[in-house]
Amino acid sequence: MTKFKLEYIWLDGYEPVPNLRGKTKIEEFARFPELEELPLWGFDGSSTRQAEGSNSDCVLKPVALFPDPARTNGVLVMCEVLLPDGTPHPSNSRADIPDDPDTWFGFEQEYFFYVDGLPLGFPPAGFPAPQGEYYTGVGHKNVGSLAREIVEAHLDLCLEAGINHEGINAEVAKGQWEFQIFGRGSKRAADEMWIARYLLLRLCERYGVDVNWHCKPLGVEVDWNGSGMHTNFSTKYMREVGGEEDFLALMGAFEEHMAEHIAVYGPDNHLRLTGLHETQSIDTFSWGVADRGASIRVPHSFVNNDYKGYLEDRRPNSQGDPYRIAGRIIESIEAVPLPGTSLAELASGNGSPHREKRPLLVSEPVVG
Ligand code: ADP
Ligand code: MN
Ligand code: MN
Ligand code: MN
Repeated sequence: MTKFKLEYIWLDGYEPVPNLRGKTKIEEFARFPELEELPLWGFDGSSTRQAEGSNSDCVLKPVALFPDPARTNGVLVMCEVLLPDGTPHPSNSRADIPDDPDTWFGFEQEYFFYVDGLPLGFPPAGFPAPQGEYYTGVGHKNVGSLAREIVEAHLDLCLEAGINHEGINAEVAKGQWEFQIFGRGSKRAADEMWIARYLLLRLCERYGVDVNWHCKPLGVEVDWNGSGMHTNFSTKYMREVGGEEDFLALMGAFEEHMAEHIAVYGPDNHLRLTGLHETQSIDTFSWGVADRGASIRVPHSFVNNDYKGYLEDRRPNSQGDPYRIAGRIIESIEAVPLPGTSLAELASGNGSPHREKRPLLVSEPVVG
């Protein structure tokens, strides 16, 4: 038997952005454990804004596990928080989202490294050279001496943990970086994103560096980019059948549900979605081919391939909860019946009852 270090990780009850929490439990197993073998556990919810002191027990239910490359016999255990009666805690944003393993998500997580309240590489007063050469940049004047070391170590940790890390790049602002996570299904993709965030935060401890996830940490007065979490998505139907009619119907649903999307796309997004810095403004919905100023960017490959492939929702921000974001995207997609759905099928409940109400063409595509 081997003693494994199980790191139970969960989201706390802070609003509007939950913090990651974790604590270690030692358990013996003959080999690397299966999810089903991991016990429920508990914690003091009165210390995480998840319970009153007089009745403080919350339950941790393991929902995904990953080898922990930074610890001997370590396991990273993503958990949902339950109430003592076994129902989802109000802070549990994972339990009730729609899921579908054939709907794929690619999250592009942007963030700033911070030291002493400033982006890594900023002088103590004033600003470094203006934006321009930092994005995908190389060289000490662009990325300094520390950031790339952390970013590379994080990439290795994610890959060794079995996370579908898809790439990294230095971003537009000094001290700003991005990594991409791909997953099949809303829960799997979002579990991997939360664990990747956890690994970055934990790794940064030893460098004396913080991660600032805020979408506009430098404010709106200055000409520095904010941080997003562009969310790329595709259903099996979009990848294999697609077509312009289905695409326009999808965009109709996204426009109709704009407010519900924005509500879960991260706090303070009005500071970031201004229409500047490669964003659309927060109260406008638009889509455009290769348009980084649209709410939804349609890749050239999508149009060239008969409207098949994936789309990029550029509105979610860096502090957004990937469970809520992916869940909302599936919800809007599911409001759209597939082209060719008959009236009889609609009447039987197999299609959207809202089909007749949906305007087909919602905005003119902007090419460029
Ligand atoms: P950009 O910076 O040009 O917007 P990135 O390369 O940073 O693009 O991100 C593209 C994302 O799209 C990646 O996270 C990738 O996993 C994701 N992606 C690619 N194909 C699909 C697909 N079929 N469905 C969902 N996501 C996809
Ligand atoms: Mn990107
Ligand atoms: Mn980016
Ligand atoms: Mn993008």
